[in-house]
Amino acid sequence: MRDLELFSRALGLQEPWRVVETSFDPEQRRLDLRLDFERGARFACPVCERPGCAVHDTSEKSWRHLDFFQHQAYLTARVPRVRCPEHGVRQVELAWAREGSGFTLLFEALLMALVAEMPVRAVAELVGEHDTRVWRVVHHYVDAARAREDLSTVERLGIDETSFRRGQDYVTLFADLDRCRCVFATPGRDADSVSRFVADLREHGGDPAQVREVCQDMSEPYLFGVLGKLLQATITFDRYHVKAQLSQAVDQVRRQERAQQGELLKGSRYLWLRRPENLSDKQRARLDTLLRQPLQTVRAYNWALKFDAVYELTGTEAEHYLRGWVRGAVRSRLQPLIDFAHLVQAHWTGILRWFQSRVSNGLLEGLNSLVQAAKRRARGYRSTRNYIAMIYLTVGKLNLALPT
Ligand SMILES: [Zn+2]
Repeated sequence: MRDLELFSRALGLQEPWRVVETSFDPEQRRLDLRLDFERGARFACPVCERPGCAVHDTSEKSWRHLDFFQHQAYLTARVPRVRCPEHGVRQVELAWAREGSGFTLLFEALLMALVAEMPVRAVAELVGEHDTRVWRVVHHYVDAARAREDLSTVERLGIDETSFRRGQDYVTLFADLDRCRCVFATPGRDADSVSRFVADLREHGGDPAQVREVCQDMSEPYLFGVLGKLLQATITFDRYHVKAQLSQAVDQVRRQERAQQGELLKGSRYLWLRRPENLSDKQRARLDTLLRQPLQTVRAYNWALKFDAVYELTGTEAEHYLRGWVRGAVRSRLQPLIDFAHLVQAHWTGILRWFQSRVSNGLLEGLNSLVQAAKRRARGYRSTRNYIAMIYLTVGKLNLALPT
């Protein structure tokens, strides 16, 4: 009898519950504990908490619990449904498991702790469960935490995209730039993504009219979404995206020139795309040699460096400088550079807005490295829903309210 009491206490069971039977199978490496309540016991209604409701019927359920040393441990109990005069027949609340789960709360807490550190598939293998069961637990805690979210303080927003599989299955992230966290993630990268964010914001106590600053790339869908739905927001085009687009222009010039200057430009791609100070000594030496050549790529590269310098200036200087840069670049006879200069003209206000707002998705790029980690943890599960749950877990700073 002593071991029954020991297990009851170890499980922290409260009256009227106790462990009534144990069985241990060393071959199966499995410990089974049967829980039961005293005959005639009464329970509270799970809805109104009215105590002393009579048991209507019971059904047997099992839950996997934390391992007992190297053995898997399971609890089994007949779970009562009570009849409440107000709420009718309801299943009682159990201290060790939530309704509908085949795991105890402590086992779920273990899974969530593991999922924060390693891929879901590895967690599933480690604990010997099918991964779909682990995902189900992940979704439960993420959904519950998101349902409790308070987004009433969101004022400065960063919008960025990430893709699940390379180049497809896009997800749009909405980040609270003041709290450095992702507050919403949704499939797609179009104007509807912004509409879904606004609906979600409202559902969580937020006010679209309170969003004053938005930082985003120059893509039209986001622009349409923000202009149509976040009416009080001033848009800053993210400087890192602007520069990325300029880098693409330089790269296009290099690729076009490769036809004539293949030998000279071979393997030089990254020399033109990185900041000179981020190159190794060897790369720097090669770049210095190339810079002395009469190459179109060199001219494009120099135009790009001159563009970068704008971000070192103050607002009024910057506008003047940028105007001069555009005037020069459109006459560069380098079509990708000319196209970029026109792009800058078309997005003039939002590019210069940075000098007032100073918001950038540099922060989001920081989040982005975590998102990459989320992607690794969701790997092997070709579902955007799983990917989004992982994003919330890694960059959402959610309060998961896990049992301890
Ligand atoms: Zn009730």
